[in-house]
Formats: sequence, C-alpha cells, structure tokens
Amino acid sequence: MESREQFDVIVVGGGPGGSTLSSLVSMRGARVLLLEREVFPRYQIGESLLPSTVHGVCRLLGVADELAKAGFPVKRGGTFRWGSRPEPWTFSFAVSPRMASPSSFAYQVERAKFDKIMLDNAARLGVDVRQGCTVHDVLDDGERVHGVRWTDADGNERLAEARFVVDASGNTSRLHTRAGGRREYSEYFRSLALFGYFEGGKRLPEPNSGNILSVAFDSGWFWYIPLSQTLTSVGAVVHRSMAEKVQGDPERALAALIAECPLISEYLADATRVTEGRYGQIRVRKDYSYHSTRFWRPGLILVGDAACFVDPVFSSGVHLATYSALLAARSINSILAGTVEEGPALQEFEARYRREYGVFYQFLMSFYQMNRNEDSYFWEAKRVTRSEHRTELQAFVELIAGVSSGESALTDADTFVQNFTMRADELEVAVDKLSDGDSGSAAMLRSSVVRGAMYEGSQVQMRALLGTDAAREAAMFPGGLVSSLDGLSWEYQA
Ligand code: FAD
Repeated sequence: MESREQFDVIVVGGGPGGSTLSSLVSMRGARVLLLEREVFPRYQIGESLLPSTVHGVCRLLGVADELAKAGFPVKRGGTFRWGSRPEPWTFSFAVSPRMASPSSFAYQVERAKFDKIMLDNAARLGVDVRQGCTVHDVLDDGERVHGVRWTDADGNERLAEARFVVDASGNTSRLHTRAGGRREYSEYFRSLALFGYFEGGKRLPEPNSGNILSVAFDSGWFWYIPLSQTLTSVGAVVHRSMAEKVQGDPERALAALIAECPLISEYLADATRVTEGRYGQIRVRKDYSYHSTRFWRPGLILVGDAACFVDPVFSSGVHLATYSALLAARSINSILAGTVEEGPALQEFEARYRREYGVFYQFLMSFYQMNRNEDSYFWEAKRVTRSEHRTELQAFVELIAGVSSGESALTDADTFVQNFTMRADELEVAVDKLSDGDSGSAAMLRSSVVRGAMYEGSQVQMRALLGTDAAREAAMFPGGLVSSLDGLSWEYQA
C-alpha cells in the first residue's frame, strides 16, 4: 500500500452533488480530491432540471454559459394531466417574481452530458478529479472520519486523508451508514419506476415544447421529457405491488402501461423505442424514496442522494443534490477558515437541507391525492412553504422551481459571483503585495487556511464598501448563520 496522500477535502462521487461541492470548496483555495467510480460520460437518470440549479448553483460555479451553449431543450415549466380535472394544465416559471426573465426556465438534459460538463468544470477549478476510482470505506479513528480507502484505476489499493470526507456517491452509497445513522425508507412513496427512450415522439405545442409532461393514469403516472428535437425519456411510476410483473418482462410491461394511458399513447404513436447504445435498455428503479437519520458526523458529510431522495414527480433530485452541496461547501469553507465551529456550521447545513427536503416531501403527499384539482394543490403549496407574500400559484411554482427557501444564491447568483470576483482580485493583489516578490511567501499566503482567513477579513471590508446586504436571506434561527456575500461560506448574522 502506498503512502497516504493528504487533502483538505475528499469527495466520493462525481455526480452533480460531488462536482458542485468540490468546485465550491476549491474556489476558496482548499485542496480537494474527487474520486469517481465510473469514467464520464456515464448514464444516469434525472434529466429534468430546475431553475435553482441552472440560474443559481451553475452560475456560482461559472458553468452557466457552457450549459447555454450545449443545446439542451429549454424547459419553461410543466404540463400536467393530473388530479380531478380531465384536461392537461400548464404552469410557467415566469409567474414567480423570484424568477423574472431571463431566469424563468431550466433545461432538460442528457445526464451523461450535463454531469460531464459539471465534472470537467470542477477539474478546471482546481479539483484533483480521478475517474475509474472506487472508494470502499472511510478511515475512522472512533472520534472522526479522517480519510478513505480506495482502489485506483489500475487496481491498486490506496489510502488518502483529509479534514473532511464528503459522501456524494448517490443512492448506491456504501458510506452513508458511517455517519452513524440509518436509511429510512418512506412508507408513503413506495413506488417503482420503469423507463426507456423513444425517437420521434410528439411535442407539446410552442412555446411549451420543452416542458416536462406528467400524466396520471389508473396504474400510476408517466413522465415524458424531451431530450432533443427527436429523443424523449419516457418513464412510468407505478405501485410497488407491480414489481414482479414489471421485472419479469420490462419491455412488455412498459408497452402495456403506455397502452393504458391514452395521452402518452397518442404522443408516442409515431415513435420507435431506442434499442441500442446508452438508451437502448429499459431500466427499473425502486426503493428510491428515503432519508438518512444523520447527515453528518465529525469529518463525514452526506450530500445529494447519499443523504435523501423523494419521489421524482417534481424533478427535485439534482436540485437537492446541488443545493445540499452548496450548503455543505459553505460549512466546510467556514470551518477550514476557522470562522465558524464545526458543530454550528454543520447543524446549519443539515437544518436547511432537511427543510428543503421536507417541503418537497410534505407537498408531494397532497399532490398524490388525485381527487383534488390544481387550485387545491396551489393552495397546499402556499401552506407548506408559508409564502405569505405570494399567490397560491406563485407559491406552487416557486416550490417546484426549487426557490421557495428564499435562498438568494439560487435566484440572484450574479450578485454573489460579482462579489466573489472582486474579492478574488483583491486577494491576489494583497498576496502579491505582502509576499513582495518572494515566491515562498506567496505560496504560503495562497495556502487554503491563510486564504480562507484573508477571505473572511475581506468580507468585512466588502460589506463596508457595498454598504448593503442586498440579496441576502434571513437566518433560519434567531442569531443563526447567513450566507457570506460571495455565497461560499457562513457568517453569524450581525
Ligand atoms: P449521482 O448522480 O447518483 O452521482 C453519484 C456518483 O457517485 C456516480 O457517478 C457514481 O458512479 C459515483 N459513485 C458511487 N459509488 C461510488 C464509490 N464507492 N466510489 C466512487 N464513486 C462512486 N432528478 C432530477 O433532478 N430530475 C428528474 O427528472 C429526476 N428523475 C428521476 C427519476 C427516477 C426514477 C429516479 C429514481 C430519480 C430521478 N431523479 C431526478 C433524481 C436524480 O437521479 C438524483 O437525485 C441525482 O442524480 C442525485 O445526484 P448525486 O450527485 O447525489 O448522485
């Protein structure tokens, strides 16, 4: 076994959770190792994104322009055939004041492409990304987790150590129990999903051709997601009691379910199922609605699906993964800079992550009551999100756009990016001045700990300079933590 490499943070998994977290801590100067089992591009389900990811987290990461150029279909909202009303109804993200144009849309993405863009961006931001590398376990001294045991791409067993290990290894995580909790599966959402891909399916009329179409029918509901002008992701979510039938012959089961649902049959009337390549297989997923009873312990943090996931009807998975990664990155950055203790920083991460998960969970329970109409769902969204200053429809749209927390970094990311850029420039100038041409001193000043402390110092100056806390949300608890001006750490509310 080789010597133990040393890092500030080790991230397990390079999906949206892992790439986001590793990027946001690397941007603050931490030394980050990311270990990913597969070699990207790789297949993943979860293709319908929310505006909070596209215009919030992806802007903070500096990857929004690249996404815009990738040609993903634009999702302006959703179209549902759902509840007691027989006709489909459509909502648009644009009705929310929090998502004024031009940020009132998201994308439908082929995850192989989206996840690769995010992971390559992490590498560009300084993360040491290693693919084809599987993590087997954490190193644990009883008090804290301090590293991982992993196998590299050549099959060599290795060890690496860090102040923090982040489990972003998704629903198949082997590490989540090492946080000391257990996975609790939802009794309410015990469905099973069966999905495949079709060429040549019909599109909704403009301007909604990029919308997700969700259609309830007797056995469950369908998603219909346009991934290009011709390629469509089609999945049925049905009761778990159908597991045997579905797994016995998934091809036949999917065809029978489509035949049972008139609207999806109509949309696929001229389509053919893809039978080769990445999309050639019919896949089945079950037991995907769960949460872990603990999201962290000293040295180990769970983000994304490693921590929790709830039913796919509102496409919340990538949002929860990237938002939890943002929250955890703030905690790690603050702890590494020595400005907030580990306990309060990680409690803040967990409280905010559970609140967001809880809002989706609670609302979904009422959304599955098919005897209600959309007005009743909108009313429920307003109740669950406690959105006093919103209409019922706005509350619904903000919930399913991922912005109901009022978290400014998810809607007003440009302000944070500007602050980050100004501070990064200031820091470079300060380092050059202080080191006075001495490369040894410059290297020391650029180290993560010193950088973190300097960033925190410049935060105070920045606030004095801007004289305003525009774009900042309130603390969750009295005297609790709020985001820094660049969105990358926590501060105590003044
Ligand atoms: P992942 O995307 O799973 O990434 C984890 C990564 O970790 C993987 O690349 C994996 O290879 C790697 N890994 C695993 N184990 C190890 C290891 N031991 N060592 C190293 N690397 C490892 N979400 C949406 O936003 N929109 C949707 O429309 C949507 N539809 C869905 C439909 C269904 C049926 C289901 C089940 C989920 C859906 N989701 C959707 C959820 C979405 O798939 C996930 O929430 C999202 O992918 C979570 O991101 P992540 O980064 O946490 O994990």
